Amino acid sequence: MNASRTLVRVIESLPTSDGAGVKLRRSLGSQRGLYLDPFLMLDEFYSDDPDDYLAGFPPHPHRGFETVTYMLDGHLRHEDHLGHRGDLGPGGVQWMTAGRGIIHSEMPQQTQGRMRGFQLWINLPAREKMKPAAYRDIPAGQIPTVPLPGGGEARVIAGRFGETRGPVNGRGELSTDPLYLDVHLPAGAAFEAPLPSGYNAFAYLYEGSLSIDGKALPLRAAGVLSADGELRARAGETGARFLLLAARPLREPVVQYGPFVMNTREEIEQALADYRDGRFTQAA
Ligand code: MN
Repeated sequence: MNASRTLVRVIESLPTSDGAGVKLRRSLGSQRGLYLDPFLMLDEFYSDDPDDYLAGFPPHPHRGFETVTYMLDGHLRHEDHLGHRGDLGPGGVQWMTAGRGIIHSEMPQQTQGRMRGFQLWINLPAREKMKPAAYRDIPAGQIPTVPLPGGGEARVIAGRFGETRGPVNGRGELSTDPLYLDVHLPAGAAFEAPLPSGYNAFAYLYEGSLSIDGKALPLRAAGVLSADGELRARAGETGARFLLLAARPLREPVVQYGPFVMNTREEIEQALADYRDGRFTQAA
């Protein structure tokens, strides 16, 4: 029998705003150095009030990592300098590799109703930080749903769960080899997931109540798991909905300046100079 991963740290989400004033809650990334290699940031946005999201994220740059946006409710439109356009709807994912540079906008395509979802930042290894930018739209229908033996289901966005592979899969595709599950459990249901040994992992509870190896994870908080063994979790009386993330750590220095994440200060200065001089997105 495998060891069970324990909850070693809870990172509460804090209210903040980003873009042109979108209100959100940030757990990973809410303070300098508060990340879980290679996961740099996790934002949850959730509001029924258009004033909280209408301003959106007008054109802005990224360099050196990947942004993964997962929508639960609402519509966002992505446009970038490479000419990609994508309408991100409920249940859909946008997987964007900023690489050496992308300039994009993420704007709400609704003036009322609920906007709800997540944006996760995953770091790139030093040797891939300056690769060409790439963008992938993954509509809800391309994300497999696995029924769970104890009731409920898991949506497999990235990586492999049992025999099911998500649309983003494998170290051949991404060197961090991420697992990204959205797990829905009915009241009292148990959930187990094997996680690769040594991969960093966390769970983010966004609805209901959940315990991990017998310890409660607060709502809207990221629970960092110990390094080895499988995840054993159980939903409370109201059921649980949570994200489960795991990935191979990079163990490289992280130097971040806003939307630029590199390995050294010099590389950040280069990113700022490239952006200022209009060389940001050009091939090396
Ligand atoms: Mn962005």
